[in-house]
Amino acid sequence: MENLSAWQKKISAQQKQTIMSLVERFNRPCPRYTSYPTAKQFVAIEQGDEIIDEPELYSQVDRKVNCLSLYFHIPFCQQLCYYCGCHKFITQNKDKAETYLNYLIQEVELRAKNCPEHVKVTDIHLGGGTPTFLTDAQLERLFDAIKANFSIADGCEWAIEIDPRTVDSARIKNIINIGFNRFSLGIQDFNDKTQIAINRQQSYQSIESIVLAIRQCQTLETDFSVNFDLIYGLPLQNQQSFMQTLENVVSLNPDRIAMFNYAHMPKMFPAQAKIKQADLPNAQLKVAILIDAINYLEQNGYRQVGLDHFVKVEDNLYQALQNETLTRNFQGYADCETQVMLGFGVSAISDFSTAMLQNEKQLKAYYQSIDKQQMPFKKVIFRTQQDKQREGLIHHLLCHLEIPVNKLDYLTFTSEWLALKQLETLGLLTINKQQIKVTMVGQIFIRNIAQIFDSYNKLSHVTGFSNAI
Ligand code: SF4
Repeated sequence: MENLSAWQKKISAQQKQTIMSLVERFNRPCPRYTSYPTAKQFVAIEQGDEIIDEPELYSQVDRKVNCLSLYFHIPFCQQLCYYCGCHKFITQNKDKAETYLNYLIQEVELRAKNCPEHVKVTDIHLGGGTPTFLTDAQLERLFDAIKANFSIADGCEWAIEIDPRTVDSARIKNIINIGFNRFSLGIQDFNDKTQIAINRQQSYQSIESIVLAIRQCQTLETDFSVNFDLIYGLPLQNQQSFMQTLENVVSLNPDRIAMFNYAHMPKMFPAQAKIKQADLPNAQLKVAILIDAINYLEQNGYRQVGLDHFVKVEDNLYQALQNETLTRNFQGYADCETQVMLGFGVSAISDFSTAMLQNEKQLKAYYQSIDKQQMPFKKVIFRTQQDKQREGLIHHLLCHLEIPVNKLDYLTFTSEWLALKQLETLGLLTINKQQIKVTMVGQIFIRNIAQIFDSYNKLSHVTGFSNAI
């Protein structure tokens, strides 16, 4: 029997009113917790620091490492989307991709030597930037290099983020023939005015033909998944316009939808200054759009998983939610624990459980490290036991909307208990002897609840993160 998510009971007018009354109070800077500690806590590796030895990092993982996730960052884009907060370089020069790919493959060869022989790769993700900035031949070279250097598990997921403006049906078929089986399409919003305001125009018809091309290649033997990325809180969005976008989305029947909250931080991402502040929906409107979206997707065959994912009942992520094996990682959510993640390319993050490391962000510095046959790591954080404990609590909360009381001993977490009790009085949580459970109202403020367990970014003086709403 399906364990129904709370949202399947439509949120009542009274609950909506409670949420609206709390928006201003909780709309403050707050991490998204794809990792804990967050990337802000990483420190630069200085010359003369002890050399970070990758084989040693494998040996320090708490338990025997059997499987591996790989992430490849392709940082080039042809055109700037004004909302973008990704690490990217805007260029029309396709030669840059060839040089970058050569270095990326060298990084694969360099780091694969450090990987214990028995370890198998279970999932691979190409993100960006724009992975489809690479030609099909370049994508195939990368695919072949990964296969030649790592041991790939049966059923491995090969995921690629696709900018719909860079592909057509013929390219999609080539990408499938290379071996990719997870396709993540950057949709954001179908509304023309919003698309102009964010400098990213793509028609419904172009998306439809891409989805059709993928579905035509799908057989009973292939395990394909089509994911749509959407963003709410973009300029000129309102409840009606975003509902129209959602109707278009549902008509194309993606397997998964990731619906992200737009983070407007022009001081950190200068291109966002091109978006007029006056065009942005305010926090109250953003919440209204979000509530409408959740209700609509739940009523149209999708189930909410975690903060921002919506999937079909048969999806691995939903099964993982039911089986309580759902976990959070840099890509969002995963259906089982990521033991070790290796990030390749500029700015990519690797996670060895005891340590997280970020690669050089600039191309020149990245190329220089690879030329010297050195790990291109620029920043690091070593997780303490306390970090791991807090990360476990935060991720459990963001995956399962609850925390078992026996994981929160009162002496260690005295201030956290006081903060939780306060949120209980506001209707965000229910607390009993066994469990602390997030209510439907609390789901809207889940990042704020998670922040209680963050010992680095305390509520009163945190900066450098997007607002929670
Ligand atoms: S949103 Fe994607 S395609 Fe647009 S500039 Fe950013 S990384 Fe490039």
